[in-house]
Amino acid sequence: AKTGSKGQFRFYDHTLYEDIKMRLNTEQELQQAIKEDQFLIYYQPRVQTQTGKLLGIEALIRWQHPTRGLVLPNDFISLAEESGLINPIGELVVDKVCAQLASWRKQGVEVVPVSVNVSPHQFNEGKVKKSIAASLAKHGIPASLLEIELTESAMMRNIGDIFDELTAINEMGIKVHVDDFGTGYSSLSLLQRLDMDILKIDQAFTSQLGRGKDGEIFFTAIVSMAKALGMRVVAEGVETLEQLHILQTLSCDEVQGYYVAWPLPADNIADIIRKQNLF
Ligand code: C2E
Ligand code: CA
Ligand code: CA
Ligand code: CA
Repeated sequence: AKTGSKGQFRFYDHTLYEDIKMRLNTEQELQQAIKEDQFLIYYQPRVQTQTGKLLGIEALIRWQHPTRGLVLPNDFISLAEESGLINPIGELVVDKVCAQLASWRKQGVEVVPVSVNVSPHQFNEGKVKKSIAASLAKHGIPASLLEIELTESAMMRNIGDIFDELTAINEMGIKVHVDDFGTGYSSLSLLQRLDMDILKIDQAFTSQLGRGKDGEIFFTAIVSMAKALGMRVVAEGVETLEQLHILQTLSCDEVQGYYVAWPLPADNIADIIRKQNLF
């Protein structure tokens, strides 16, 4: 840009400046949010495809921003990852979930396992395992009630760092879900070596069901592969009764999505857990 006119140079300079300023501002706000505990957890049920029986719940973070309202994770997780703030945020998610499980148990609610989304950026010198173990101990929660979700692409991108820690987490008795399956390029032998428990098929594939045979062929193939590897299959993003009916014919084990239940605050979920069945 050194040969460009003065006007061009100033234009570039200005937008870059604005961009950096905005990111720094959001980063500061995120730091503030951690200090002031502005994060909430919403919970979305996962049920048995054939019967509607509640099998698990996914924890999804929300940011109760002082002026912007409820902010969704897609609007702040990547900045949190780039700035390193994902580490304290990831820890507080696990801690909030363990506290919630303890509170439900105290109220006599018969809880099911809760899965937490973990970013590949959190895998570093065994930190994820340590902080999970600390939260479980602090709230008196057995490892069997906490599960983690890691995306297929994260697993493949960073496999050297992640392999040992995932193995250690698995050995604690914590089940691991392969999230957004079908969008990364995992190797079957790796999934087998990692002893993964649950494959969550990305909602892009669920949305194809009922629109020609291809979607069903994909599910049939994944279900038989997962069975061979001893994994359960979850269809994500089930939005219609038609999709549910097709998944029932394809022996997909579990379903999650707006048709079954929306992500909800903890209080609303307690009633669902008491019912134990969503159909
Ligand atoms: P994900 O793990 O794939 O979570 C599923 C997303 O799909 C959630 O969006 C959920 O609200 C939404 N969803 C559920 N059912 C349906 C449906 O039937 N149709 C459609 N169209 N969407 C549905 P959400 O809560 O906005 O989260 C987006 C992503 O942010 C998550 O995708 C996950 O990757 C990430 N995320 C959420 N919570 C955390 C967290 O605590 N830590 C980290 N690192 N990432 C998180
Ligand atoms: Ca997930
Ligand atoms: Ca997913
Ligand atoms: Ca396993």
